[in-house]
Amino acid sequence: MIDLRSDTVTRPGEAMRAAMAHAEVGDDVYGEDPTVRRLEERVASLLGHEAALFTPTGSMANVLAVGLVVAPGREVLCEARAHIARAELGAHGAVSGVTMRTWSHPRGQIDLPAIEDLFAPDLGPFFVPTSAISVENTHNFAGGAVLPLADLKSLRAFADSQGAAVHLDGARIWNAHVATGVALEEYGAAADVVCVCLSKGLGAPVGSLLVGRADLVVEARVRRKRLGGGMRQVGILAAAGLYALDHHVERLAEDHANARLLAEACGVDPAGVDTNIVAFERPDAAAFVAAARDAGVLVGAVGARTVRLVTHLDVSRSDAEAAARVLAAL
Ligand SMILES: *Cc1c(COP(=O)(O)O)cnc(C)c1O
Repeated sequence: MIDLRSDTVTRPGEAMRAAMAHAEVGDDVYGEDPTVRRLEERVASLLGHEAALFTPTGSMANVLAVGLVVAPGREVLCEARAHIARAELGAHGAVSGVTMRTWSHPRGQIDLPAIEDLFAPDLGPFFVPTSAISVENTHNFAGGAVLPLADLKSLRAFADSQGAAVHLDGARIWNAHVATGVALEEYGAAADVVCVCLSKGLGAPVGSLLVGRADLVVEARVRRKRLGGGMRQVGILAAAGLYALDHHVERLAEDHANARLLAEACGVDPAGVDTNIVAFERPDAAAFVAAARDAGVLVGAVGARTVRLVTHLDVSRSDAEAAARVLAAL
């Protein structure tokens, strides 16, 4: 089976497992795990922020990050297919008391006029006040689309002019960085709080981080413990993340090339495939998924009519070529 359902399906290889096995560890709830600290310092510095916090999942990082900048009873604006809106099981409402309103863009992009229309920090005691704007780079359900740096800068300027916060869901910021050559620090500068995942294209088994100002991260550490996310000798997992940052960032370009190959096979214009995700419409996505599975290729349905393919570390060029032949025949 060639598994194109998600870039979360990768398994740690021998070298990553060796790095994990030999990690220096301590009790991270006491702040004494040197490997976790190294990972947090490294990721904060890569994104040009003061501090970072390791979390078990990207969902927890996003819940903590949005909750830091949006108080209960207030709202965050985001694109309609954002992961925070669709794929975190309502946590921002259920756990944090945060509501959302959305704008829609076919490629998940920043629509500043729409955001300016939605933005309502204080319309009197009848409307939910807006505290923050959240953007996703790359945008998962919009087919791995990259947000242009110029749009992020315009959003930053608008948010600053309004005293609003910006949250960047950068689960795949590594893919955006490799696809565009824009420095991670430049992406980081666009947001007050950024979340990144190590367990997607980077191929670590577990782990995400949120980054931001030192005082926000101190508060996030308390809230992570409250949610049950305080972990002990977790340097074993952080070591996988450090290994992934050393060895698995630049190679994302291979995943992007494989995604363009698969796009062509599926009749999708490869020019519209920015990174490692290909999304396209079929009248019956579930039927397409089943037919592909019968032919040895696992793909995903992310809507009744939307099929999604994701390339990753465990899909070689020859796997991609084989999958392309199968999918073209379908
Ligand atoms: C995967 C993902 C997350 C986090 O997901 P977890 O499975 O909770 O780690 C957050 N945002 C985006 C855009 C994602 O694709």
